[in-house]
Amino acid sequence: MRRFDYLRPRSVAEAVAAGAEQGSQFLAGGTTQLDLMKDGVLSPRRLVDLTRLPLRDVSQDGDALLVGALVTMEQLAVHPLLERAPVVREALLAGASVQLRNMATIGGNLLQRTRCRYFRDSAVAHCNKRAPGSGCAAVTGHARAHAILGAGPNCIAVHASDLAVALVALDAAVRITGTAGDRTVPLTEFYSVAADRPDRENSLAPGDLITQVRIPLPATHSRSGYLKVRDRASYEFALTSAAVLLELDGDIIRSARVGLGGVGTVPWRARRAEQLLTGAPSTTAAFRSAANAEMVGTFTVPATEFKVELAKRTLVRQLETVAALHSSGAER
Ligand code: FAD
Ligand code: SF4
Repeated sequence: MRRFDYLRPRSVAEAVAAGAEQGSQFLAGGTTQLDLMKDGVLSPRRLVDLTRLPLRDVSQDGDALLVGALVTMEQLAVHPLLERAPVVREALLAGASVQLRNMATIGGNLLQRTRCRYFRDSAVAHCNKRAPGSGCAAVTGHARAHAILGAGPNCIAVHASDLAVALVALDAAVRITGTAGDRTVPLTEFYSVAADRPDRENSLAPGDLITQVRIPLPATHSRSGYLKVRDRASYEFALTSAAVLLELDGDIIRSARVGLGGVGTVPWRARRAEQLLTGAPSTTAAFRSAANAEMVGTFTVPATEFKVELAKRTLVRQLETVAALHSSGAER
Protein backbone atom coordinates (compact mmCIF):
# COMPACT_ATOMS: atom_id res chain seq x y z
CA MET A 1 0.00 0.00 0.00
CA ARG A 2 1.31 3.48 -0.84
CA ARG A 3 1.58 6.22 1.77
CA PHE A 4 -1.43 8.54 2.06
CA ASP A 5 -2.72 11.36 4.27
CA TYR A 6 -5.62 10.56 6.57
CA LEU A 7 -8.39 12.95 7.60
CA ARG A 8 -11.39 12.29 9.83
CA PRO A 9 -13.80 15.25 9.51
CA ARG A 10 -16.76 15.82 11.82
CA SER A 11 -19.03 17.69 9.42
CA VAL A 12 -20.41 16.96 5.96
CA ALA A 13 -19.18 20.34 4.68
CA GLU A 14 -15.63 19.56 5.81
CA ALA A 15 -15.76 16.09 4.24
CA VAL A 16 -17.03 17.46 0.92
CA ALA A 17 -14.34 20.15 0.81
CA ALA A 18 -11.61 17.61 1.58
CA GLY A 19 -13.06 15.05 -0.83
CA ALA A 20 -13.09 17.57 -3.69
CA GLU A 21 -9.31 18.02 -3.54
CA GLN A 22 -7.39 16.15 -6.19
CA GLY A 23 -6.28 12.68 -5.11
CA SER A 24 -8.81 12.40 -2.24
CA GLN A 25 -11.04 9.37 -1.77
CA PHE A 26 -13.67 8.56 0.85
CA LEU A 27 -13.53 5.74 3.38
CA ALA A 28 -16.66 4.38 5.07
CA GLY A 29 -16.63 0.78 6.36
CA GLY A 30 -13.53 0.10 4.26
CA THR A 31 -14.60 -3.38 3.07
CA THR A 32 -14.12 -2.42 -0.58
CA GLN A 33 -11.85 0.62 -0.34
CA LEU A 34 -9.11 -0.90 1.81
CA ASP A 35 -8.95 -4.15 -0.22
CA LEU A 36 -8.41 -2.18 -3.40
CA MET A 37 -5.73 -0.02 -1.77
CA LYS A 38 -3.89 -3.08 -0.51
CA ASP A 39 -4.05 -4.58 -4.00
CA GLY A 40 -2.61 -1.40 -5.52
CA VAL A 41 -5.75 -0.73 -7.60
CA LEU A 42 -6.56 2.49 -5.72
CA SER A 43 -3.83 4.86 -4.53
CA PRO A 44 -5.43 7.94 -2.95
CA ARG A 45 -3.17 10.76 -1.86
CA ARG A 46 -5.60 11.44 0.93
CA LEU A 47 -8.20 9.24 2.57
CA VAL A 48 -11.21 11.09 4.00
CA ASP A 49 -12.74 8.89 6.70
CA LEU A 50 -16.50 9.45 6.91
CA THR A 51 -17.18 7.51 10.08
CA ARG A 52 -17.51 10.53 12.38
CA LEU A 53 -20.20 12.16 10.26
CA PRO A 54 -23.72 12.29 11.71
CA LEU A 55 -25.25 10.08 9.01
CA ARG A 56 -26.44 7.08 11.02
CA ASP A 57 -30.19 7.69 11.40
CA VAL A 58 -33.08 5.64 10.04
CA SER A 59 -36.44 7.43 10.09
CA GLN A 60 -39.80 7.46 8.35
CA ASP A 61 -41.02 10.43 6.33
CA GLY A 62 -44.60 9.74 5.23
CA ASP A 63 -44.43 6.71 2.96
CA ALA A 64 -40.65 6.67 2.66
CA LEU A 65 -37.72 5.53 4.75
CA LEU A 66 -34.77 7.88 5.12
CA VAL A 67 -31.55 5.99 5.70
CA GLY A 68 -28.29 7.74 6.60
CA ALA A 69 -25.37 6.74 4.38
CA LEU A 70 -23.35 5.44 7.35
CA VAL A 71 -26.04 3.07 8.65
CA THR A 72 -24.52 -0.41 8.38
CA MET A 73 -26.08 -3.14 6.27
CA GLU A 74 -26.82 -5.16 9.40
CA GLN A 75 -28.39 -2.22 11.26
CA LEU A 76 -30.76 -1.61 8.39
CA ALA A 77 -31.52 -5.31 7.87
CA VAL A 78 -32.82 -5.68 11.43
CA HIS A 79 -34.48 -2.27 11.68
CA PRO A 80 -38.21 -2.48 12.58
CA LEU A 81 -39.10 0.23 10.02
CA LEU A 82 -38.00 -2.15 7.26
CA GLU A 83 -40.92 -4.48 7.94
CA ARG A 84 -42.91 -2.95 5.10
CA ALA A 85 -40.10 -3.58 2.62
CA PRO A 86 -39.15 -7.25 3.02
CA VAL A 87 -37.49 -7.22 -0.38
CA VAL A 88 -34.84 -4.83 1.01
CA ARG A 89 -34.29 -6.91 4.12
CA GLU A 90 -33.94 -10.11 2.08
CA ALA A 91 -31.46 -8.45 -0.30
CA LEU A 92 -29.36 -7.16 2.60
CA LEU A 93 -29.30 -10.50 4.40
CA ALA A 94 -28.36 -12.31 1.17
CA GLY A 95 -25.20 -10.19 0.95
CA ALA A 96 -21.70 -10.87 2.28
CA SER A 97 -21.48 -12.24 5.86
CA VAL A 98 -22.71 -10.89 9.18
CA GLN A 99 -19.17 -9.71 10.03
CA LEU A 100 -18.95 -7.74 6.79
CA ARG A 101 -22.47 -6.41 7.15
CA ASN A 102 -21.56 -5.03 10.58
CA MET A 103 -18.78 -2.95 8.97
CA ALA A 104 -20.21 -2.18 5.53
CA THR A 105 -22.37 0.92 5.15
CA ILE A 106 -25.38 1.55 2.93
CA GLY A 107 -23.58 4.34 1.03
CA GLY A 108 -20.52 2.13 0.53
CA ASN A 109 -22.64 -0.78 -0.62
CA LEU A 110 -24.19 1.26 -3.41
CA LEU A 111 -20.72 2.45 -4.45
CA GLN A 112 -18.86 -0.85 -4.13
CA ARG A 113 -16.54 -1.53 -7.05
CA THR A 114 -16.87 -4.48 -9.36
CA ARG A 115 -15.53 -7.91 -8.39
CA CYS A 116 -14.01 -8.43 -11.88
CA ARG A 117 -10.73 -10.21 -11.15
CA TYR A 118 -8.92 -8.32 -13.91
CA PHE A 119 -9.96 -4.96 -12.49
CA ARG A 120 -8.76 -6.08 -9.06
CA ASP A 121 -5.37 -7.31 -10.30
CA SER A 122 -3.19 -4.27 -10.96
CA ALA A 123 -0.71 -6.53 -12.81
CA VAL A 124 -3.27 -7.05 -15.61
CA ALA A 125 -2.67 -4.44 -18.30
CA HIS A 126 -5.98 -4.70 -20.19
CA CYS A 127 -8.78 -3.15 -18.19
CA ASN A 128 -10.74 -0.23 -19.62
CA LYS A 129 -12.16 0.56 -16.21
CA ARG A 130 -8.73 1.01 -14.57
CA ALA A 131 -6.85 2.21 -17.65
CA PRO A 132 -9.24 3.66 -20.29
CA GLY A 133 -8.38 2.47 -23.80
CA SER A 134 -6.31 -0.52 -22.65
CA GLY A 135 -8.88 -3.19 -23.64
CA CYS A 136 -10.80 -5.73 -21.63
CA ALA A 137 -9.15 -8.93 -20.41
CA ALA A 138 -12.45 -10.39 -19.24
CA VAL A 139 -14.14 -10.75 -22.64
CA THR A 140 -11.70 -13.55 -23.52
CA GLY A 141 -10.97 -14.64 -19.96
CA HIS A 142 -12.67 -15.95 -16.82
CA ALA A 143 -15.99 -14.21 -16.83
CA ARG A 144 -18.52 -16.61 -15.33
CA ALA A 145 -19.81 -13.96 -12.93
CA HIS A 146 -19.88 -11.11 -15.44
CA ALA A 147 -22.66 -9.02 -16.95
CA ILE A 148 -24.87 -9.60 -20.00
CA LEU A 149 -27.05 -6.45 -19.82
CA GLY A 150 -25.57 -2.98 -20.32
CA ALA A 151 -22.39 -4.79 -21.33
CA GLY A 152 -20.30 -4.59 -24.51
CA PRO A 153 -16.87 -5.49 -25.84
CA ASN A 154 -15.37 -2.61 -23.81
CA CYS A 155 -16.47 -3.95 -20.42
CA ILE A 156 -18.66 -6.70 -18.97
CA ALA A 157 -18.10 -5.94 -15.29
CA VAL A 158 -21.14 -6.70 -13.15
CA HIS A 159 -22.46 -4.37 -10.44
CA ALA A 160 -22.43 -6.76 -7.50
CA SER A 161 -24.68 -5.05 -4.93
CA ASP A 162 -27.74 -7.03 -3.86
CA LEU A 163 -29.21 -4.07 -2.01
CA ALA A 164 -29.10 -1.84 -5.09
CA VAL A 165 -31.19 -4.35 -7.06
CA ALA A 166 -34.01 -4.13 -4.50
CA LEU A 167 -33.64 -0.35 -4.32
CA VAL A 168 -33.92 0.25 -8.08
CA ALA A 169 -37.11 -1.82 -8.08
CA LEU A 170 -38.48 0.38 -5.27
CA ASP A 171 -37.58 3.65 -7.04
CA ALA A 172 -35.20 4.67 -4.26
CA ALA A 173 -33.11 7.81 -4.61
CA VAL A 174 -29.81 9.04 -3.19
CA ARG A 175 -29.33 12.42 -1.57
CA ILE A 176 -25.97 13.85 -2.60
CA THR A 177 -24.09 16.78 -1.09
CA GLY A 178 -21.34 18.31 -3.21
CA THR A 179 -19.42 21.53 -3.57
CA ALA A 180 -22.36 22.96 -5.57
CA GLY A 181 -24.98 22.04 -2.94
CA ASP A 182 -27.51 19.23 -2.48
CA ARG A 183 -29.37 17.19 -5.06
CA THR A 184 -31.46 14.03 -5.15
CA VAL A 185 -30.93 11.47 -7.89
CA PRO A 186 -33.12 8.40 -8.51
CA LEU A 187 -30.97 5.27 -8.40
CA THR A 188 -32.28 4.26 -11.82
CA GLU A 189 -30.52 7.36 -13.21
CA PHE A 190 -27.50 7.33 -10.90
CA TYR A 191 -25.46 4.53 -12.47
CA SER A 192 -23.86 4.52 -15.95
CA VAL A 193 -23.77 1.33 -18.02
CA ALA A 194 -20.22 0.05 -18.57
CA ALA A 195 -20.70 -0.53 -22.30
CA ASP A 196 -20.49 3.25 -22.82
CA ARG A 197 -17.74 4.43 -20.43
CA PRO A 198 -16.31 1.64 -18.25
CA ASP A 199 -14.34 4.16 -16.18
CA ARG A 200 -17.43 6.30 -15.42
CA GLU A 201 -19.64 4.35 -13.05
CA ASN A 202 -22.10 6.91 -11.73
CA SER A 203 -23.02 10.58 -11.69
CA LEU A 204 -20.82 11.58 -8.71
CA ALA A 205 -18.34 14.43 -9.18
CA PRO A 206 -15.18 14.76 -7.03
CA GLY A 207 -16.17 15.59 -3.46
CA ASP A 208 -19.78 14.43 -3.92
CA LEU A 209 -20.94 12.58 -0.85
CA ILE A 210 -24.00 10.35 -0.59
CA THR A 211 -25.60 11.45 2.67
CA GLN A 212 -28.94 9.63 2.61
CA VAL A 213 -30.99 7.07 0.74
CA ARG A 214 -34.73 7.62 0.36
CA ILE A 215 -36.66 4.37 0.03
CA PRO A 216 -40.36 4.66 -0.90
CA LEU A 217 -42.24 2.02 1.07
CA PRO A 218 -44.37 -0.34 -1.01
CA ALA A 219 -48.15 -0.21 -0.65
CA THR A 220 -49.31 -2.31 2.30
CA HIS A 221 -51.22 -4.71 0.00
CA SER A 222 -48.24 -5.32 -2.31
CA ARG A 223 -46.06 -8.44 -2.14
CA SER A 224 -42.32 -8.47 -2.55
CA GLY A 225 -39.25 -10.67 -2.28
CA TYR A 226 -35.65 -11.16 -3.37
CA LEU A 227 -34.16 -14.33 -4.85
CA LYS A 228 -30.41 -14.75 -5.23
CA VAL A 229 -28.87 -17.61 -7.21
CA ARG A 230 -25.20 -18.29 -6.49
CA ASP A 231 -22.58 -21.01 -6.53
CA ARG A 232 -22.84 -21.62 -2.77
CA ALA A 233 -25.53 -20.81 -0.25
CA SER A 234 -23.81 -17.98 1.64
CA TYR A 235 -20.89 -15.56 1.48
CA GLU A 236 -21.06 -15.47 -2.30
CA PHE A 237 -22.00 -12.93 -4.94
CA ALA A 238 -25.02 -13.46 -7.20
CA LEU A 239 -24.84 -15.25 -10.52
CA THR A 240 -28.36 -13.96 -11.02
CA SER A 241 -30.94 -12.40 -8.75
CA ALA A 242 -34.42 -10.90 -8.91
CA ALA A 243 -36.21 -8.37 -6.73
CA VAL A 244 -39.96 -8.48 -7.40
CA LEU A 245 -42.87 -6.34 -6.17
CA LEU A 246 -46.39 -7.17 -7.29
CA GLU A 247 -49.82 -5.70 -6.72
CA LEU A 248 -52.53 -8.13 -7.77
CA ASP A 249 -56.22 -7.78 -8.37
CA GLY A 250 -57.45 -11.35 -8.13
CA ASP A 251 -55.30 -13.15 -10.67
CA ILE A 252 -54.50 -10.03 -12.67
CA ILE A 253 -51.28 -8.12 -12.11
CA ARG A 254 -52.14 -4.50 -11.41
CA SER A 255 -48.53 -3.38 -11.11
CA ALA A 256 -45.13 -5.04 -11.28
CA ARG A 257 -41.70 -3.73 -10.37
CA VAL A 258 -38.63 -5.80 -11.08
CA GLY A 259 -34.90 -5.43 -10.46
CA LEU A 260 -32.33 -7.93 -11.74
CA GLY A 261 -28.89 -8.56 -10.25
CA GLY A 262 -25.79 -10.49 -11.24
CA VAL A 263 -26.50 -9.75 -14.89
CA GLY A 264 -26.13 -5.99 -15.33
CA THR A 265 -23.22 -3.58 -15.42
CA VAL A 266 -25.68 -1.54 -13.33
CA PRO A 267 -28.40 -2.75 -10.94
CA TRP A 268 -30.93 -3.57 -13.65
CA ARG A 269 -34.50 -2.23 -13.68
CA ALA A 270 -36.45 -4.62 -15.89
CA ARG A 271 -38.81 -2.15 -17.56
CA ARG A 272 -39.69 -4.35 -20.54
CA ALA A 273 -40.70 -7.21 -18.27
CA GLU A 274 -42.74 -4.83 -16.10
CA GLN A 275 -44.61 -3.50 -19.12
CA LEU A 276 -45.64 -6.98 -20.22
CA LEU A 277 -46.58 -8.04 -16.70
CA THR A 278 -48.84 -5.07 -16.02
CA GLY A 279 -52.41 -6.11 -16.78
CA ALA A 280 -51.40 -9.70 -17.55
CA PRO A 281 -52.77 -12.77 -15.79
CA SER A 282 -50.59 -14.09 -13.01
CA THR A 283 -49.47 -17.26 -14.83
CA THR A 284 -46.14 -18.93 -15.49
CA ALA A 285 -46.65 -18.39 -19.24
CA ALA A 286 -46.99 -14.61 -18.71
CA PHE A 287 -43.96 -14.61 -16.43
CA ARG A 288 -41.92 -16.46 -19.04
CA SER A 289 -42.92 -14.01 -21.81
CA ALA A 290 -41.85 -11.11 -19.60
CA ALA A 291 -38.50 -12.75 -18.80
CA ASN A 292 -37.89 -13.48 -22.50
CA ALA A 293 -38.59 -9.85 -23.40
CA GLU A 294 -36.12 -8.53 -20.83
CA MET A 295 -33.33 -10.73 -22.19
CA VAL A 296 -33.54 -9.44 -25.76
CA GLY A 297 -30.33 -7.64 -26.74
CA THR A 298 -27.98 -9.23 -24.22
CA PHE A 299 -24.23 -9.13 -24.86
CA THR A 300 -22.62 -12.46 -24.02
CA VAL A 301 -19.18 -14.06 -24.20
CA PRO A 302 -18.85 -17.87 -24.07
CA ALA A 303 -18.41 -17.79 -20.27
CA THR A 304 -21.64 -15.85 -19.70
CA GLU A 305 -24.01 -17.48 -22.23
CA PHE A 306 -25.56 -19.67 -19.51
CA LYS A 307 -26.73 -16.55 -17.70
CA VAL A 308 -29.40 -15.69 -20.26
CA GLU A 309 -31.47 -18.77 -19.43
CA LEU A 310 -30.53 -18.67 -15.73
CA ALA A 311 -31.70 -15.05 -15.43
CA LYS A 312 -35.01 -15.90 -17.10
CA ARG A 313 -35.59 -18.83 -14.77
CA THR A 314 -34.63 -16.76 -11.72
CA LEU A 315 -37.17 -14.10 -12.63
CA VAL A 316 -39.93 -16.60 -13.43
CA ARG A 317 -39.31 -18.45 -10.15
CA GLN A 318 -39.44 -15.26 -8.11
CA LEU A 319 -42.57 -14.02 -9.84
CA GLU A 320 -44.20 -17.37 -9.10
CA THR A 321 -43.13 -17.18 -5.47
CA VAL A 322 -44.37 -13.64 -4.90
CA ALA A 323 -47.64 -14.24 -6.79
CA ALA A 324 -48.29 -17.50 -4.95
CA LEU A 325 -47.89 -15.68 -1.63
CA HIS A 326 -50.67 -13.38 -2.72
CA SER A 327 -53.15 -16.14 -3.57
CA SER A 328 -52.40 -17.92 -0.27
CA GLY A 329 -53.29 -14.65 1.50
CA ALA A 330 -49.95 -14.47 3.30
CA GLU A 331 -48.92 -10.97 4.34
CA ARG A 332 -45.36 -10.04 3.43
P1 FAD B 1 -16.05 1.41 1.58
O1 FAD B 1 -15.24 0.22 1.22
O2 FAD B 1 -15.57 2.26 2.69
O3 FAD B 1 -16.26 2.33 0.30
C1 FAD B 1 -16.69 1.81 -0.94
C2 FAD B 1 -16.63 2.90 -2.00
O4 FAD B 1 -17.63 3.86 -1.76
C3 FAD B 1 -15.32 3.68 -1.98
O5 FAD B 1 -15.06 4.04 -3.31
C4 FAD B 1 -15.64 4.92 -1.14
O6 FAD B 1 -14.81 6.00 -1.50
C5 FAD B 1 -17.08 5.17 -1.52
N1 FAD B 1 -17.95 5.71 -0.47
C6 FAD B 1 -18.33 5.08 0.67
N2 FAD B 1 -19.29 5.78 1.30
C7 FAD B 1 -19.53 6.88 0.53
C8 FAD B 1 -20.44 7.96 0.64
N3 FAD B 1 -21.30 8.07 1.66
N4 FAD B 1 -20.43 8.92 -0.35
C9 FAD B 1 -19.57 8.82 -1.37
N5 FAD B 1 -18.68 7.82 -1.54
C10 FAD B 1 -18.67 6.85 -0.59
N6 FAD B 1 -22.05 -6.93 -1.36
C11 FAD B 1 -23.26 -7.38 -1.73
O7 FAD B 1 -24.13 -6.56 -2.05
N7 FAD B 1 -23.53 -8.72 -1.78
C12 FAD B 1 -22.60 -9.67 -1.45
O8 FAD B 1 -22.87 -10.87 -1.49
C13 FAD B 1 -21.32 -9.22 -1.01
N8 FAD B 1 -20.35 -10.11 -0.63
C14 FAD B 1 -19.13 -9.63 -0.23
C15 FAD B 1 -18.12 -10.55 0.13
C16 FAD B 1 -16.87 -10.08 0.51
C17 FAD B 1 -15.80 -11.07 0.90
C18 FAD B 1 -16.61 -8.67 0.53
C19 FAD B 1 -15.27 -8.15 0.93
C20 FAD B 1 -17.60 -7.78 0.17
C21 FAD B 1 -18.85 -8.24 -0.21
N9 FAD B 1 -19.85 -7.36 -0.63
C22 FAD B 1 -21.10 -7.82 -1.00
C23 FAD B 1 -19.54 -5.95 -0.80
C24 FAD B 1 -19.82 -5.18 0.46
O9 FAD B 1 -21.23 -5.13 0.66
C25 FAD B 1 -19.23 -3.80 0.21
O10 FAD B 1 -17.82 -3.94 0.25
C26 FAD B 1 -19.67 -2.80 1.26
O11 FAD B 1 -21.07 -2.66 1.27
C27 FAD B 1 -19.02 -1.46 1.02
O12 FAD B 1 -19.37 -0.61 2.09
P2 FAD B 1 -18.23 0.09 2.95
O13 FAD B 1 -18.92 0.95 3.93
O14 FAD B 1 -17.26 -0.91 3.49
O15 FAD B 1 -17.56 0.98 1.81
FE1 SF4 C 1 -11.86 -4.18 -16.75
FE2 SF4 C 1 -14.49 -4.19 -17.18
FE3 SF4 C 1 -12.94 -5.76 -18.63
FE4 SF4 C 1 -13.24 -6.28 -16.03
S1 SF4 C 1 -14.82 -6.38 -17.55
S2 SF4 C 1 -11.32 -6.30 -17.23
S3 SF4 C 1 -13.48 -4.20 -15.20
S4 SF4 C 1 -12.90 -3.51 -18.61
